Amino acid sequence: MSEVYNWHLGRKMNYIFPEVHPQKQFAAVFNINRCIGCQTCSGACKATWTFSKGQEYMWWNNVESKPYGGYPQHWDVKILEMLDKAHQTANKKAEWDSTKVAAESPYGVYNGLTITEASGAADQALGYIPPDTEWRAPNFYEDTSTGYKDKSGKLGIHTEGVKLPEHQTWFFYLQRLCNHCTYPACAAACPRKAIYKRPEDGIVLIDQARCRGYRKCMEQCPYKKSMYRGTTRTTEKCVGCYPRVEGKDQLSDGVPMETRCMAVCPGKIRMNGLVDVGANGAWKEDKQHPLYFMIKMEKVALPLYPQFGTEPNIYYIPPRWAPRAYLHQMFGPGVDEAIARYTAPSRELLAVMQLFRTTQKMIFRYEIKEGPLVLETEVNGKPWKMYNDTVIGFDAKGREAARLTVVEPIYERPKERMNSI
Ligand code: SF4
Ligand code: SF4
Ligand code: SF4
Repeated sequence: MSEVYNWHLGRKMNYIFPEVHPQKQFAAVFNINRCIGCQTCSGACKATWTFSKGQEYMWWNNVESKPYGGYPQHWDVKILEMLDKAHQTANKKAEWDSTKVAAESPYGVYNGLTITEASGAADQALGYIPPDTEWRAPNFYEDTSTGYKDKSGKLGIHTEGVKLPEHQTWFFYLQRLCNHCTYPACAAACPRKAIYKRPEDGIVLIDQARCRGYRKCMEQCPYKKSMYRGTTRTTEKCVGCYPRVEGKDQLSDGVPMETRCMAVCPGKIRMNGLVDVGANGAWKEDKQHPLYFMIKMEKVALPLYPQFGTEPNIYYIPPRWAPRAYLHQMFGPGVDEAIARYTAPSRELLAVMQLFRTTQKMIFRYEIKEGPLVLETEVNGKPWKMYNDTVIGFDAKGREAARLTVVEPIYERPKERMNSI
């Protein structure tokens, strides 16, 4: 057992392997506020990677309706319950110390137990293997909102409670794939050492030749993103579309491309990239990198269940209408600040947000050319200004890959083509 530093927790924690970090880390930002639940991402992954015999129930990418939905069913409720029981037994609280916010602990310090610390065993984390019935569909309880009790105690849709900051009847879509964790619980669990993290991009893969299908990874991945294939008797998981990330896709022109599930998203909620990682695991300062800017500087995107302790690398802009207590449990203590910054974005953030889904190439750097003031208003009770800036995204070779203005231009159809479709 080794001591490793987890910057999501703002402290050291135990992990089975010594601290080693990749040169770059596969990461993404998902803007939950924009997702339309169309499952195009899920379909794109399935059509690319899991269309074969034995993979029928596999959805490496799935989108679930929270709070009731889950794939596998109730995966997060179950692991949270296990974690809660472990805290009760240890007489500890799963609390964050938000007074200790610093560069190396941007969300403060987590004083509770991670899934490894809660298990008490050196090479084991809390976990369970979901039964087959819980894997039946990628979006159980699709579009099912919570009920609201009116004054008479009757359940129903609330007629008044649709005001921010918290809707009384609510749901939201949670987009999920393997988090290509910094400290993967799946790799820690594997008795065959079949799971590894690539040094060049931090993508976590299962070596199919070594895997014997013991399913320890399925048991101990808290996100339940490793899946069993009966026809090969091995487990499989999201491969981070590594040929695209390597720039080997025919379309890519030799530069890293975003994955299939990211590139197809019609809601424009996803941005995928590679960030530079230092030898100590800290992300190298890179203020002009859109992911670094959103995650590290603006802190508008947050990790999913950071308290599990695997340091996941998919980050979420939380939905601004859901109850804060629920969001705090899911994304940690940074939720209020993230929503405040998202709803009244800084001039730079508003420009960077335009880059979502403008190109299939990964963007490694952005530049902003300042434009005129186009709107003065009030947001969250404070004055807010909007400028029509131009944002330019550059690929891995420094070539321009995207150029957009904050205000979407209007194109008028020429007269002779009016009403002709
Ligand atoms: S999300 Fe699960 S399967 Fe993916 S790297 Fe993390 S622990 Fe492993
Ligand atoms: S990154 Fe690729 S393999 Fe992973 S879920 Fe998305 S499409 Fe599937
Ligand atoms: S493709 Fe995009 S908008 Fe559609 S469900 Fe997936 S993440 Fe949401």
